[in-house]
Amino acid sequence: MFTIEELEAGFKARFGRQPQLFRAPGRVNLIGEHTDYNDGFIMPAALEYETRAAAAARADRILRVHSVSRNETVEFDLDSPNPAPRKDWTDYVFGVAVMLERAGKRLTGADILIVSSVPLGSGLSSSAALEVSIGYSLLALAGLPIDRVELAKLCQKAENEYVGMRCGIMDQFISCNGEHDHALMIDCRSLEKRSVPIDPRAVVVVANSMVHHELASGEYNKRRASCEEGVRLLRPVLGDIKALRDVSPDQLEQHKALLDDVTYRRCRHIVTENDRVVEAAAALEAGDLARCGALMNASHVSMRDDYEITCDEVDKLAEIAWKLPGVFGSRMTGGGFGGCTVSLVEAGAAEAFMAAVKVAYKEATGLDTVIFACSPREGVSALSA
Ligand code: ADP
Ligand code: MG
Repeated sequence: MFTIEELEAGFKARFGRQPQLFRAPGRVNLIGEHTDYNDGFIMPAALEYETRAAAAARADRILRVHSVSRNETVEFDLDSPNPAPRKDWTDYVFGVAVMLERAGKRLTGADILIVSSVPLGSGLSSSAALEVSIGYSLLALAGLPIDRVELAKLCQKAENEYVGMRCGIMDQFISCNGEHDHALMIDCRSLEKRSVPIDPRAVVVVANSMVHHELASGEYNKRRASCEEGVRLLRPVLGDIKALRDVSPDQLEQHKALLDDVTYRRCRHIVTENDRVVEAAAALEAGDLARCGALMNASHVSMRDDYEITCDEVDKLAEIAWKLPGVFGSRMTGGGFGGCTVSLVEAGAAEAFMAAVKVAYKEATGLDTVIFACSPREGVSALSA
């Protein structure tokens, strides 16, 4: 990661003037996977891994953005009448500018240098960290007020409509609203949030499987379609339901005959996962780490068997974790088909846990996991040099 001084110096060397600095974090989701686009519950935390932007306004309406990760500089004219997505990383950047402008925010042109310590495509949401860092920078440079909920929604809209990934609100919302040392239990229908402190007796550990299967975004959109199909098929018997959020596990069981097996299992993951999130938040608040961990394990099994979004490597990582001493629970985190697991581990056992996972994962797969303990951070902000 660039230090703040390096970021500033890098910007000056490239663009020849003094920037303002901003940061937006990646995230880990403790529990509540694929529930966000079903109006359900999630419990993510913002990470210390973040995307940093050095930015300065221009007198015209051109955006010139350099990504250090991509080693590429791209330009965009805010006045271009019908901007077309380019089907690459620049869509995350310009999509946000387009959605801000469509929402009536009059932006200025800008030069922006982007660096990120969030690993790209690992399920820790480098995409939202990029979107939110760009959105916040553009609003700040234009001297416009920043509403964190609105910013999250506009960044999600950029990813949905400009990138073409039908993600829910989770990643953008937590990148905007994260809190130091806390996870947030979020109701994705009302967008109400509750701060849930991480129990000091436990450590949140993230392990990267180092694999990312290409089918991820196509399969993601298919899962979303299955959920919509479930709602459509259940509506005649359950009345005015808008999303799987409105269906209880009992109701689903009662009417399972209406659904084909795959749709039923997709729906079962969502309706049981919603209940697990509510219970896990209460367990964490009550200091019941064992219960919270058991719910995380059940979440993994549900993603593996019902939602079918895990893969051999992340299954292996979770199974390794489940057997180690001091582990309360472990599950895949993020959209799926690779990426990371999140584990809740007894504080005193965390170092030994991380060492043991590395060895066992290498033995099982030949891959070197990157594994780290996290301490949740606050959402997007300006950075002072
Ligand atoms: P995740 O959000 O889990 O990291 P995604 O597939 O949603 O995975 O987003 C990863 C994509 O976001 C990258 O392939 C790239 O297009 C874009 N991206 C994220 N961060 C950067 C960055 N710093 N520079 C350029 N592109 C980035
Ligand atoms: Mg993403």
